[in-house]
Amino acid sequence: MIPYGRQSINDDDIAAVTEVLKSDFLTQGQQVPNFEHELSKYVDAQFSIAVNSATSALHIACLALGVGKDDYVWTSPISFVASSNCALYCGASVDFVDINPHTYNLCPNALRQKLEHHKQYDLPLPKVVIPVHFSGQVCDMSAISILAEEFDFKIIEDASHAIGATYLNKKVGSCEFSDITIFSFHPVKIITCGEGGMLTTNDKQLEKTIRMLRSHCITRESNLLHNTTDPWYYEQQGLGYNYRMTDIQAALGVSQLSRLDDFISARRNIAKQYKKTLSGLPITLPAQSSEQSSAWHLYVITLDERKRLSIFKQLREAGIGVNVHYIPIYFQPFYQSLGFKKGLCPNAEVYYQSCITLPIYPDLNNEQQIQIVQSLKNLLLKDK
Ligand SMILES: *Cc1c(COP(=O)(O)O)cnc(C)c1O
Repeated sequence: MIPYGRQSINDDDIAAVTEVLKSDFLTQGQQVPNFEHELSKYVDAQFSIAVNSATSALHIACLALGVGKDDYVWTSPISFVASSNCALYCGASVDFVDINPHTYNLCPNALRQKLEHHKQYDLPLPKVVIPVHFSGQVCDMSAISILAEEFDFKIIEDASHAIGATYLNKKVGSCEFSDITIFSFHPVKIITCGEGGMLTTNDKQLEKTIRMLRSHCITRESNLLHNTTDPWYYEQQGLGYNYRMTDIQAALGVSQLSRLDDFISARRNIAKQYKKTLSGLPITLPAQSSEQSSAWHLYVITLDERKRLSIFKQLREAGIGVNVHYIPIYFQPFYQSLGFKKGLCPNAEVYYQSCITLPIYPDLNNEQQIQIVQSLKNLLLKDK
């Protein structure tokens, strides 16, 4: 089965991991600071903090921005559940903003309408909005950040799909239009650590808080301690977590980061090839907004919703690991049990009825891509 996405691991990646395994520190050594430093340089952010997953990153990003009971976090329903679960971990509530029907990203116009409506009727306004750069395409961050000023909310970019993407010629993660950006290094994502995540920010205070939350809110920094005479002394100053990344993961991360530009150009070539070979068929290819350049984590097409299921099944039978990204989050039984009703985000629901993700990853070769395109063509023309 050709998967929809997979990691690319070479001998350098393996050597980097092996070296750590033979060293003194499997965790809390120099590899994690090194990965953070390299990532800050790559995305041009002042601070990077590595964690053990993007889910952890989202959780402590919300906490660092003060999300708690009685607060609201708004996000896109077309995302992985982690994008909204993070608010619930903090005891806060979540709400969803509809997508743009062409980019499938959180729609700034829908956001403005919802904000104005909530303001007018004294309904809860968000403390934090989490735009998700779905499929690697960057959201309209400039429009969203204007709304953040006007309605006084913070922004966490969920860039789990989008490391290596650019927006207005700056790398995603630079936090030009946000407070915090988070990345995922799960193996299906653009670069991998096995499991892992990263937060970037340009705010010194946020960086400090996030570092504390990552490791139990324990500090040994003498200027922060109440007692400086005992050499063994440390203090827990809040309720934190063990969300640390290991040095084994960080070494793989550094090696993968050095390959990121190659990964992105391979993904862009595959996308270009799909665009060329799939044009003229009764499907919609992914629209790209011009102020950004996608990392192409996913290649999503939409087609007649009456044919989606049958084409999906037949592609799977032909050994092509197509997928669906995503079931709207509030369709999940857990979210239904919180009181969310179908009909909340009409564009997201229409999109969900018709989408299929085709395989895209750096090691997908030309013959495999031809096979995917040919199978899809045959099915579409046969079913006509
Ligand atoms: C994968 C993903 C996450 C969670 O990432 P993990 O590193 O697996 O915790 C969060 N948000 C989105 C949009 C994702 O695709």
